[in-house]
Amino acid sequence: MRHLISENRNNKYLKPPVPEVFLAGMVFFVTVLIFLLPVSAETFRAEISPGKISQGDPFVVKVTGLEASSPPSAVLLEKEILFSGCGDGCYIALGGVDLNTKPGIYKVTVTAGREKRDLMLSVEKTAFPEIRLTLPKEKVFLSPEDIERTEREKERLTAIFRTITGKLWDGNFITPLGNSVSTGFGVKRIMNGKNVSVHKGVDIRGREGEDIRASNAGRVVLVEELFFGGNTVILDHGQGIYTIYMHLSKARVDSEDIVSKGDVIGLVGSSGRATGPHLHFAAKLQDMTVNPLSLISLAL
Ligand SMILES: [Zn+2]
Repeated sequence: MRHLISENRNNKYLKPPVPEVFLAGMVFFVTVLIFLLPVSAETFRAEISPGKISQGDPFVVKVTGLEASSPPSAVLLEKEILFSGCGDGCYIALGGVDLNTKPGIYKVTVTAGREKRDLMLSVEKTAFPEIRLTLPKEKVFLSPEDIERTEREKERLTAIFRTITGKLWDGNFITPLGNSVSTGFGVKRIMNGKNVSVHKGVDIRGREGEDIRASNAGRVVLVEELFFGGNTVILDHGQGIYTIYMHLSKARVDSEDIVSKGDVIGLVGSSGRATGPHLHFAAKLQDMTVNPLSLISLAL
């Protein structure tokens, strides 16, 4: 008993219990406040779908519950993903990765006002098949004049694909020709045993003269006979999204025409570098080569 009393007396530096409880209370309160503040200010949700894609696939970013009046912004690999409204507090955007994007996990940061959301996008390695084909020599090994022509055409197309205009697309993209695919996206074609080219679109089977339809609403930005593509139509759907239709026997639109989704824009043929009648259908998203079938499969 004496021992205990003396111990208490000796402990003169022991602080009274009240301020300690008070201090702990304050720390707890501030901690809770720090955790609560961002939660209570949370005004939107952001999701990416699909979260797992192949090289060259587009994807959708959807933001809901956004109270701010201005649209959100998002960036992936230094390219801005452009949003458009989809109802009250809702914004939707089409993003994509180029066919040559390295597989891996990428971060898509969505910003609205002072808030950010990090979304994860997994780009899976894709085993694109290889095919060998034989074409007339002059279509594989080009003359200096043809090389010059193809370079000129390539530059012209690049300038088109880098142009970003206002949104014209509306809802899902549709298939321009409802037949089966003969050569898929990303297929590596080895021509005449030497010349290698990567297939940057899909070939859809078709009979000569069959109708080809606009995959979405847009503006006709090119109607021309190209060296590789033959008679070609390009539609600008706005926000850097383009669809390309090649090897037509005939175009049914003129440059600058505005088309609706499903309008007939041309007829199947085998013009340009083609071994038979078919449609080469391709898509570009801010100058990235994307799989047009994946674009069609997105719920927009
Ligand atoms: Zn093709």
